[in-house]
Amino acid sequence: MKDQNCIFCKIANGDIPSATLYEDDDFRVILDLGPAAKGHALILPKEHFADLYELPDEIAAKALVLAKKIASKLTEILKCDGFNVVQNNGVCAGQTVFHFHIHLIPRYENDHVGLGWTPGKLTEEDKAEILVGFSE
Ligand code: AMP
Ligand code: ZN
Repeated sequence: MKDQNCIFCKIANGDIPSATLYEDDDFRVILDLGPAAKGHALILPKEHFADLYELPDEIAAKALVLAKKIASKLTEILKCDGFNVVQNNGVCAGQTVFHFHIHLIPRYENDHVGLGWTPGKLTEEDKAEILVGFSE
């Protein structure tokens, strides 16, 4: 299903031009217009799924295989030193386009790309709550 108002539906299906690195029946991979680092790419499914929660298992499985393939090729081309695979769900998590996508972000020594967080502490209370939830 496509969403008429979704920019990534239009890009993924070729209605809006993009710098396309790869395309198959299920996905288009494009260069991000606002890259965090040189070579920042986005994996877009051609069908509209708002986020990871909506993604069918089959597409989810294919997406990670594709992430590996594209990250390997970009590493070969760009000679980057590392890679982040990032996927945001929800406004509070930084999602701004509500069509599932995976960020592929090449990393370079001392690139100062800000993807870090301050580590907290796993409390006994939180651990118990989560483990109980998983055992139910
Ligand atoms: P997110 O914040 O995870 O939803 O990521 C959205 C990403 O899409 C950002 O990195 C934007 O730079 C990128 N973006 C938004 N519009 C376009 C576009 N038309 N072409 C390429 N990348 C885009
Ligand atoms: Zn869409």
